[in-house]
Amino acid sequence: MPSKLTDQKFESIISSIENIEHYINGEFVPAYSNSSFANINPFTNQKINSVAEGREEDIKKAAAAAKEAYKNGPWGKMKVSERMKYLYRIADIIDQEIERIAVLEALDTGLPVSQTKNQTARSAENFRFYARMAESRLHGEAYQADGEFINYTIYKPVGVVGLITPWNAPFMLETWKVAPALAAGNTVILKPAELSPLSAHILAQVIDKAGLPKGVLNVVHGHGETAGAALVANPDVNAISFTGETSTGTVILKNAADTLKRTSMELGGKSPLIIFEDCEFERALDAAVWGIFSFNGERCTANSRVFVHKKVKDRFIDELKRRVTNIKIGDPMDTETELGPLINKVHFNKVNSYIELAKKEGCEVIQGTVPSEAKAGNFVPPTVLLHARNDMKVCQEEIFGPVMAVIEFEDEQEVIAAANDVKYGLAGYVWTNDIKRGHRVAQAVDAGMIWLNAQNVRDLRTPFGGTKASGIGREGGHYALLEFYSEPKVIHVAMSDHHIPQFGK
Ligand code: NAD
Repeated sequence: MPSKLTDQKFESIISSIENIEHYINGEFVPAYSNSSFANINPFTNQKINSVAEGREEDIKKAAAAAKEAYKNGPWGKMKVSERMKYLYRIADIIDQEIERIAVLEALDTGLPVSQTKNQTARSAENFRFYARMAESRLHGEAYQADGEFINYTIYKPVGVVGLITPWNAPFMLETWKVAPALAAGNTVILKPAELSPLSAHILAQVIDKAGLPKGVLNVVHGHGETAGAALVANPDVNAISFTGETSTGTVILKNAADTLKRTSMELGGKSPLIIFEDCEFERALDAAVWGIFSFNGERCTANSRVFVHKKVKDRFIDELKRRVTNIKIGDPMDTETELGPLINKVHFNKVNSYIELAKKEGCEVIQGTVPSEAKAGNFVPPTVLLHARNDMKVCQEEIFGPVMAVIEFEDEQEVIAAANDVKYGLAGYVWTNDIKRGHRVAQAVDAGMIWLNAQNVRDLRTPFGGTKASGIGREGGHYALLEFYSEPKVIHVAMSDHHIPQFGK
């Protein structure tokens, strides 16, 4: 990719954008009601295109197609190796289209294109990873019982699964759910976020090109309260995998109870990053800055609370001030850009209102500067809240923007208690060169995932997810493939004339 996309190249990708329809039963179709909504570019606040607005009728149609494909189509009956060929093919098509997907995702979300490109590469890997895992791990166990029985398990698909995804890393998060769902043999209805529909549309095109049997993957666009809620309520949908805000997760859990659905909840976070005085300072600084300002701060695992030991606090703040003014803010299409605009005006206003609140709560606010040519976009500059205390609202609530609160601490027990004094428990980061302390603190912080002397690097085999208000269940590795998208089934086989109770003889 060139350092700045040439106008011509950009134009050719942009001119490929069409109005978006649903993808149901192997066909692109308009909304049942024929209504649509506008998709807005966060950099210009101009309309990109129109998107079919799905509601209950569209979900019903998709659920019927997915059910038919599950019950009577070839997908479930196929050999695993045959099914996995489709997943490898999807990965290859994504690789071929990587530039188009990365550019359209940046256009749609405001995420810098260099970052969406990495995410697109990871999306292809999601399919390869789950294809390999299904081939090697989609098997049960046998339990011998004293020569009387052999009891064995097999893994069956769950059936029709509904996937509901957010806008903050749409293509990667969609594929992170679609890949294990398909690998396990389910059929799928994806309801992508209404604020970022472009790459979900491309995913439907990729699936179409890969030639999946009709009805195996369906995409219904629309708003959460209508299309999303109808998916959750539909009796033919057996499971819902959701990623989004904690408050939305609570509503979905309640609504899913009516039809007793299996659910997976990947929710919000307010993750601590703890810098002890003996750490490798420059590396900790790099990780802290990247962890909150990459992805425009719209990252569930962002280190929005940074606890810094008193002895290194002044140095840390001096360095932070320099970094914050150096971060390159601008056009998401420029490969040099490090921070782009937030997803929409509503979110921009929300993040800014937290910055105003921080001032009222007593923080000193340090910010970078948005260049004048970017003023039309929803830019919040990189922001640091100094003199923060953990009990402030800005340290307790998820802001989901490029805003880092810096909190001073003096001792280990104090910082563990403060790190845990929050409703969320998604991720945490610990920086120290004292190996015993590193493990102690990593084990004591309430979170589903801790990185010790590292930024958020992923190993796709490991469990991904949070505790407390950050979620229920885990994605990643066999946790998704076997524990969520598959049903274990046990078959008890008698091998002898074992005793049977004699009733009514
Ligand atoms: P959101 O909850 O507003 O929306 C997420 C999805 O839910 C969208 O597709 C939306 O249309 C749908 N939805 C909304 N109301 C619904 C309802 N009543 N029924 C069914 N569906 C409904 O979240 P968002 O603003 O798109 O995403 C940001 C949030 O996602 C942040 O809180 C972030 O921390 C979280 N997130 C978590 C993870 C994780 O893995 N834990 C990853 C990424 C993002």
